[in-house]
Amino acid sequence: MAYLSIARCGSYERREVEQAVNKCLRELGGLERFISAGQRVLVKPNLLAADPPEKGTDTHPEVVRAVLKEILAIGAQPIVGDSPGLGSLSRVAEKAGIACICRELKVPLGAFNQEVQVRTAPEGKILKSFPLVKEMTEVDAVINLPRVKTHGLTRLTGAVKNLFGCVAGLHKGELHFRLQRADVFQEMLIDLALTVKPVLTIVDGVMAMEGAGPRNGRQRFMGLILAGENLFSVDAVIARLVGLKPSEVPLLALAAKRGINGIKESEIELKGEKIEEFMIRDFEVPPSSAKIDLHVPDWVIRLFRRYLSPYPVIRENCQQCLVCLEACPAKVIACSQGKIEIDDRHCIRCYCCQEFCPHNAIELKTSFWGRFL
Ligand code: SF4
Ligand code: SF4
Repeated sequence: MAYLSIARCGSYERREVEQAVNKCLRELGGLERFISAGQRVLVKPNLLAADPPEKGTDTHPEVVRAVLKEILAIGAQPIVGDSPGLGSLSRVAEKAGIACICRELKVPLGAFNQEVQVRTAPEGKILKSFPLVKEMTEVDAVINLPRVKTHGLTRLTGAVKNLFGCVAGLHKGELHFRLQRADVFQEMLIDLALTVKPVLTIVDGVMAMEGAGPRNGRQRFMGLILAGENLFSVDAVIARLVGLKPSEVPLLALAAKRGINGIKESEIELKGEKIEEFMIRDFEVPPSSAKIDLHVPDWVIRLFRRYLSPYPVIRENCQQCLVCLEACPAKVIACSQGKIEIDDRHCIRCYCCQEFCPHNAIELKTSFWGRFL
């Protein structure tokens, strides 16, 4: 049985967040159940891009503060870090309001600029090893701090997807390019979760992001902090909160197929508040391309992905900032005569361009056949 806890949190007001995080931890038996005094603990928020807290892109700084205070209170030594997809950690953390909390609490921000090959957990299926940031191998435990958001490729980004930020710098783009099938990419994320194995996940679910997440969606009030040890159970609960069955989230469907425990409702015991009070039934979640990839042979994917999976389209409000050119692992975006163009024939449908566009100028459209399937 996987034990999770939910605490109500009506705003990002400091005291309210601290009380909610503390309540969640107490329901799980206290933070001492997961880490002990003297241990080095890597706190891994979602630091996707250099946006201010009001935009809802990154884990909110008050949630990071509350967790750091809990860790310091039991005498452990936290370090904060993530490997953002674009830009340096220091710049992203500064803009996200997390660097100043680290300074206030005298908690170091990791450098996250060196990599180490780490052997994949024995249950892994896709890769033999991962190029992870060096800090991962220097700590005794990892505490995962995702935010509830939608994602073009995985539908939702929560506990498991947040760990993709442990993969060092440019290797993230390389993995997108090597593992072009959406289902294989998500199997890799499962391997990564089993390898990093955080001792605890604490989710920022105060304001969730729906629609064109993880950076350009709409913020939606959910009003909770969620915590648990089993990453897959945490994501299964997030799925229920946004009105999906775990089987409708490809990553969870693949994990269940592997026999990973804690995904079915009967395998999860929720403590604290009742989940029904926080469920948002009309939460807007993108369609899934992995659903199309599942059980379909490689040659069919290669031939027809272009017609079946959602495809990125540049909108009129493009500011020609060229961020998408840098983000595209397949290098199929070009700027010609002041216009951004995507070579659709060679687009691998990874949606990194949409994920990182700072101006919400890339839309994912689904073709008639994609909708039909
Ligand atoms: S990242 Fe967005 S705004 Fe910038 S060039 Fe690409 S589409 Fe245009
Ligand atoms: S254009 Fe966008 S979706 Fe296509 S390969 Fe490049 S980043 Fe991925």
